[in-house]
Parts: sequence; C-alpha cells; structure tokens
Amino acid sequence: MSGQANFFDQVTQYFNEAARFTDYSAGLLDQIRTCNSVYRFDFPLRRAEGKIEVIHAWRVQHSQHKLPVKGGIRYSPDVNEPEVMALAALMTYKCAVVDVPFGGAKGGIKIEPKDYSLDELERITRRYAHEIAKKGFLGPGIDVPAPDYGTGEREMSWIADTYAALNPGQLNALGCVTGKPVTQGGVRGRKEATGRGLFFALREACNEPGEMQRIGLPKGLDGKRVVVQGLGNVGYHAAKFCREGGGILIALAEREGAIANPKGLNEEEVFQHRKATGSILNFPGATNIDNTAAALELECDVLVPAALESVLTAENAPRIKAKIILEGANGPTTPDADPIFRDKGILVIPDIYCNAGGVTVSYFEWLKNLSHVRFGRMQKRHEQANELSMLKAIEQATGRSFTDVEREALAHGPDEQDLVNSGLEETMIAAFHELLKIRRDTKGVPDLRTAAFLGSIHKVARSYMELGIFP
Ligand code: NAD
Repeated sequence: MSGQANFFDQVTQYFNEAARFTDYSAGLLDQIRTCNSVYRFDFPLRRAEGKIEVIHAWRVQHSQHKLPVKGGIRYSPDVNEPEVMALAALMTYKCAVVDVPFGGAKGGIKIEPKDYSLDELERITRRYAHEIAKKGFLGPGIDVPAPDYGTGEREMSWIADTYAALNPGQLNALGCVTGKPVTQGGVRGRKEATGRGLFFALREACNEPGEMQRIGLPKGLDGKRVVVQGLGNVGYHAAKFCREGGGILIALAEREGAIANPKGLNEEEVFQHRKATGSILNFPGATNIDNTAAALELECDVLVPAALESVLTAENAPRIKAKIILEGANGPTTPDADPIFRDKGILVIPDIYCNAGGVTVSYFEWLKNLSHVRFGRMQKRHEQANELSMLKAIEQATGRSFTDVEREALAHGPDEQDLVNSGLEETMIAAFHELLKIRRDTKGVPDLRTAAFLGSIHKVARSYMELGIFP
C-alpha cells in the first residue's frame, strides 16, 4: 500500500485545498490543522513461552475544541505515527460534518492480532488502557476510544473494565469507551452503524436526480452493481444493507483474493464460507480473482473500499470503472487520485461524511451511558398506547378493523434499536444535504470532499472563535 508513511500529509493536503475557500487567519488554520497531543509509548509483554516483547503504541488527540475527544483504536502491524495522526485529524472533521460534539482522536497498537493468544491480547489491551488512563488520554469527559481496524466489542469491554477498576465508584465510568457489547453498556445498533450509515449515504446520493444524471445512472439504488473491499465490520455491514436496499453485490474482496458473480453474492454466505475454509476464494458459483486489488478495477456502479487507507492511488485511478466511490475506510483515496476521479466524472462520497455512522451511534452510546437508561425505556409503552388509540379512532371512523399483524406493525412503540437507527438516518440525510448546499453555494468548490472539509473548518473555526481563543 503506497503513501501510508505520509497519510497525515495527505489529510493536510485535503484540508489545505478546502481552506483556500475561507479567509481565516493563517494562525487559526494552523491551530485547526495541527495534532494537539501525540502520546507514543512502549510497554513490555511477557509471551506465553516466557520471552519479553516490546509493544509499540500511540494515542493522538487532534483537537480539543470540543470535549471529550473521540476516535477508534487500531491493531495492525502497519500502524505508524503519521497514520494515527491522520486518523485523529479525520475524526475531528468527521465529527464536525455530522454535528457530533466531540474533538478528534485515534489510537493504535502495532501488532498483528492473530499472532497473539486471547490472553496476550487481553493483557496488551488492559496495559494500553492503563497507560493512556495514567496520562489523561482516557475518560468519559476527556477521551473516549471505540473500535477500529482489528478491534471490536471484546477489546472495548476490557478497556471499560480497566478504567472502572482504576476509578472505583465513578458513576459515568462506562462512558469512557464506546462500541461495547450491549450487555456491558453498549447500545443496540452500534456494531452495524458504520455500514448502515454508508447505506443511508449511498441511498441519499442515488435518490438525488441531479447527481445521478451527472454520472449517467438511473435514480435509486435498485439494481446498482456494488463491489466491496474488506469483509470486516464496515464492509460486511455495508454489503448487507446495500444488498437489502436493492443493490447487487457483484464482487467481494479480502486479503487473500476476491470473488465475483454478476448475478449477485450474499455477504453472509461468503462470510460463512470464509470462516469454514479460511479463504474467500472458491465460493460456489463465483469466479476467483487471485490478485485482490484487481477487484477495485471491475466494471461496476458503486465501489466501496472498506479495508484500509491509500488503496486508490494515481497508479490505479485511471483504471477504476465505478461511477460512485463510497469511502467506507478512512482515507482510501490519495490526494493525487482525487483529481483523476473528478476528471472521469466519478462521484466520490467522502469518508469524513459517509463512514461517520459509527461515531454518530457511538455518541448515542455515550449519551446512554451518561443518562444510565436504555433509549426507549421511558416512552415505548406510552407511545404504543397513543398509537393504539389512534388506530381505534380510525377503526371507529372507517368501520374496518385492523388485523393483529397490521396492529403490531403500526403500533409497537419505538425501542432502542428503532431510535438509534432513526437518529442515524436523520444524521446521514441532513449531513448529505448540507454538503450538497456547501458545494452549490461556494463558488469553485469542485466536489463533496472539499465541501465536507470546508464545512468542518467553518464549524471548528467558529468553536475556537466563540471560545475566545482567536479573535
Ligand atoms: P475490520 O478489522 O473489522 O475489517 C477490515 C477487513 O479488511 C478485514 O476483514 C481484513 O481482512 C480486510 N482487509 C485487509 N487488507 C485487505 C486488502 N488488502 N484487501 C481486501 N481486504 C483487506 O476493520 P473495520 O472496523 O471494518 O475498519 C475498516 C476501515 O473502516 C478502516 O479504514 C477503519 O478505519 C474504517 N472505519 C471503521 C469504523 C468502525 O466503526 N469500525 C468506522 C469508520 C471507519
């Protein structure tokens, strides 16, 4: 993967392109652009065979214009400082795009998780949590991590438990991390939130007649051919919701290779096949593509890179045939590929907008932890009673009775999952139209990415100015 070493420079380049459309002072723009705190640390791990190994780790807080700061923790052998800085910066801009009141942060541990036993992973994660807590990089009002590449609910539970042990009796301790299992203070819908958000973003774009006309596609998601790279948390759920929403999954790519079937694939069947055989390849009815990166270049309507950054570069951009690129991963497109996509008339739906579903629902989880009550618990039955009275009035007025199935569908009162999904849907729809408006209203803004960065710069700048930090 090219360009990873200078991922932070790439984000800076995107920032600078958007900053041209503002007249803020150089000092204010510098303050927004810079990473406020970079904590790099090492700690020892005793391996099962008794040897000591030194583990390298980071936590970066990009901007504290809003607190807490927020951002995932990545476990990967490729983790490096510019990467964590870049991902922290993207979090600041992403939160601003979807109006989530957090600053940006990110963490990383340089390990290949599958090379470690469960016990070792737990010790690494708990030690990491301990180290960042000691330095003021963890806490419900300070810095709230979440899952990212290579981590999930399990790691978040270990972090929450470590924090709670260090802060006995702290009422809001569970709010120190999001993406926890529902039984440990998590919120229903968080695991699938990023993928669901990607679907809402795509559906909104496909329903915009002007956008579809410009790229020569019919309106609506129905029948659109979708290629997804990465069948992890983001890719799997994006594939699922796009397929359920009418898209056809014509190819799925993983590390070991890709598979294609123009008639359509089912992500769950492919996932089970990979689990059983250890590889995505040789899936019944599909064609193998041994060079996994070649899947990105397939003829399709929607390409969803949902694995890692810098996979779409100036080198392969000329060969990309998709009409829409939906950026599930953070930073999948390098700045030198972006103008090529623009010239080719490809609609790029940028990461800092379309993969923001995860942090949006993380915000809901944090609110739930602070309020100590499940969403819907207070109002579900009350709303159901109101809905049932309305149905009764309709029955009396029309003389027709609803069936039990109809009654169940029309009057069930929202539960947590309904409310979370509804909040996510509203957030993704509102933010998409805000980006369209910025692109339309600001002369010269060439694409949605620049619009997204520009909107975020305005929001963060306003925050600094209102705080009195900049005149
Ligand atoms: P994950 O670890 O659950 O899944 C990543 C998947 O990508 C894995 O299955 C891995 O095998 C696969 N992969 C790795 N290299 C590949 C390659 N070269 N080709 C094809 N597949 C490859 O991680 P995730 O949480 O789904 O994160 C994926 C991306 O989405 C990252 O860029 C992450 O920063 C971003 N993201 C994640 C979230 C979230 O809520 N988890 C939110 C926003 C953005």
